[in-house]
Amino acid sequence: MAEPGRFQVLFSVLYAVDVGLRVAFGARFDLLSGPGLGLVGAVVLFVLGVAVPWDRLDPRLALVLPVGSIAVVGVTRLAPEGGNGLLAVFPALWLGRQWGRRGAVIAGVATVLFLVVPGAVYSHGDSVMVPRVLFIALVVVVTALAVADGMEQVQAHEGTIEHQRRVSQAIFDTVDVGLLLLGKDGEYVGMNRRHQEFMAIGYPAGHEGQAGQLGEVYDVDGRTPMRAEQMPAYRASAEEEFDDVRMWIGRDPATRRALSVSARAVRTRDGAFAGAALAYNDVTDFMRALKVKDEFVALVSHELRTPLTSIVGYVQILEEDPAIPPHAVEQLRVVHRNAERLRRLIGDLLDTAQRDGSPMPINRSDADLAAIVVESVEAARPTAAGAGVDIALTAPEQLRMSLDAQRIAQAVDNLLSNAIKYTEPGGAVTVRLAADERDVELEVVDTGIGIAPDDCDRLFTRFFRTEDAARRAVAGAGLGLSITKDIVESHGGRVDVESEVGRGSTFRVRLPSVG
Ligand code: ADP
Repeated sequence: MAEPGRFQVLFSVLYAVDVGLRVAFGARFDLLSGPGLGLVGAVVLFVLGVAVPWDRLDPRLALVLPVGSIAVVGVTRLAPEGGNGLLAVFPALWLGRQWGRRGAVIAGVATVLFLVVPGAVYSHGDSVMVPRVLFIALVVVVTALAVADGMEQVQAHEGTIEHQRRVSQAIFDTVDVGLLLLGKDGEYVGMNRRHQEFMAIGYPAGHEGQAGQLGEVYDVDGRTPMRAEQMPAYRASAEEEFDDVRMWIGRDPATRRALSVSARAVRTRDGAFAGAALAYNDVTDFMRALKVKDEFVALVSHELRTPLTSIVGYVQILEEDPAIPPHAVEQLRVVHRNAERLRRLIGDLLDTAQRDGSPMPINRSDADLAAIVVESVEAARPTAAGAGVDIALTAPEQLRMSLDAQRIAQAVDNLLSNAIKYTEPGGAVTVRLAADERDVELEVVDTGIGIAPDDCDRLFTRFFRTEDAARRAVAGAGLGLSITKDIVESHGGRVDVESEVGRGSTFRVRLPSVG
């Protein structure tokens, strides 16, 4: 039933209840009196309300019903015992709701015309009846205005919501990321254009709109088909939240795409799972670049490292050969030192390229940290002596803990070789190893060139070198400290630096004793 019809039915029911109650309590009822005519009018309006297809007509025609209802109330009151003027509030509510302030004015005019004037004439200006009917008119107008005002606010609010919905839809369709919205049972509720393109690649035979459907969707290796429970949409529908889950869609190498998927749960105000939102980012170029990088790393690793290892091996044999004259041995040592440097550099480059930001894998075993540090210091002594730098060590006899001995030795070597490299002849490097029940602390202190405060923050980033270091042409690639930091952090520790330009630096490594 159209809305005017529903309103009219409600009015008629209230009207009938009013008449029924009056009769039940002994009021006189005459069909030719005011209440009798009112009842006829109410029935006519009821029939009109129900029978007329109001939603197909000009909405203004429906004004007949509320205005007629006010007239019915007015006519009903034309009896010695009077009718219930309160009923006029009901059509006034409707007028205010449907036609806003204009409706309130119509309600006011109708009340004056059909209630106030006939009432005043009928009662001959009675001092009780006239004020009463005027008050009813006032209540009717105030009610209609209040409803009109409420409706205006609701409409303004709806306008804002509608605007926001349109903005969201525009963003939804413009972004270059596939967006998918799931309902609480994993059903597809909405997707943007970009995601429709992805769906056409991953599901060329079509999709039924339910999370977990198998298709041309492959694991990050690009070959293994994904199982239903591995699918991002399926996982999201099981309330899982994640970032950067990678996968391939499509079989054809020319059109297949690599996607990185993130998911967030959507919850109701009281925290119940209401669905999920997923973002599919095209990372095909990135994945292809990664593959090229892996191939490059493998190539460098093999083609550079292998011959270098054999060079170092043969140079070592020659150095120890008694038939080689002393001046040639001296030159061989230079070859050896430089080959070692090259080998370390290749090692650092490979290390950095292979991990590419992922955590460093470590291999813990029981080891003596004091012995590692002593060995590192002893190995650095010739270089320190060559650079005219004094080197001192304080360390406990033994410091057993669980760590990756090879990696920790690499970190200590890096700090020590930097301290020597960046200290002028005549300077000093002091290494201190100490432990308490919670932490182990290693300090490498130098009296070298120091580091400016701004540079200290960037020191541990890959390939960063201070201008001072580059200007002095000290050899280095800017990788040692970033690798050192990774090693220390992968052991659950941290490394920091305190430094003053021209006075020297202190690098401090703290490792938890219980590794
Ligand atoms: P590099 O191979 O260049 O030494 P690192 O990552 O080990 O690479 O160090 C990064 C930069 O930090 C160095 O280039 C240098 O500018 C600065 N640095 C590191 N250690 C010291 C130090 N003990 N004294 C002064 N500057 C240092």
